[in-house]
Amino acid sequence: MEIAELVASKVLDVPDFPKPGVLFKDLMPLFADGPAFAATIDAIVAEHGAGSFDVVAGIEARGFVIAAAIAYATGKGVVPVRKAGKLPRATVSATYALEYGEATLEVHADAFLAGERVLVVDDVLATGGTAAATLELVERAGGTVSGFSVLLELSFLDGRSRLAPRPVHALLTV
Ligand code: IMP
Repeated sequence: MEIAELVASKVLDVPDFPKPGVLFKDLMPLFADGPAFAATIDAIVAEHGAGSFDVVAGIEARGFVIAAAIAYATGKGVVPVRKAGKLPRATVSATYALEYGEATLEVHADAFLAGERVLVVDDVLATGGTAAATLELVERAGGTVSGFSVLLELSFLDGRSRLAPRPVHALLTV
C-alpha cells in the first residue's frame, strides 16, 4: 500500500472537536498500529535522509512521538517544542493564532548549537501557525530549520505558504 493511502486509512474524522464546526483529524489509529507506524517513520526518514539534519524538534504533544521515532531511526537527538510553562530553564517563546484559539510555544534558549540543522515534525499542518511559530523559535534559539515533516497536510488552509522557502513534506495531503 502507498504511504498516503496507508495514512488515509488510519485517519478518523471527528466532527465538532475541540469545538463546534471543527472537523478534527485524529491520527491516533496510525500511531497505535505497529506496522503502520513503522512504515510512517520509514517514509519520513526516506524523505529526509539522516544527512540532511542534525536534530529533530517535535511539537507537543503528538510531534514528540514522531520525533522520538525519527531520532532513534537516524541516531539523532530530540528537542521538545512545548506549550507555555512546561520547560524548566530559560526559554524563547512565541504566541500565535491557532485554527481554534491562541497558543504559546517555547523551546529552551540553549536547545540548539549555532547553525544546527533542525527537522521539525508534527502530526498535522493546518493553518501553519504552529509550524511558523516553531520556525521562529528554532531560529531565535540559534538553529536552522532544514525542513518540516507532517503526517497530514490540510492544503485548503495553505499553511505551507507561511513556511516558504523551507521544504515542507506531508505523507498525505487533503
Ligand atoms: P495549525 O497551527 O493551524 O497549522 O495547526 C496545527 C497544530 O494543531 C498541530 O500541532 C496539530 O497537532 C494541531 N491540529 C490542528 N488541526 C488538527 C487536526 O485536525 N487534527 C489533529 N491535530 C490538529
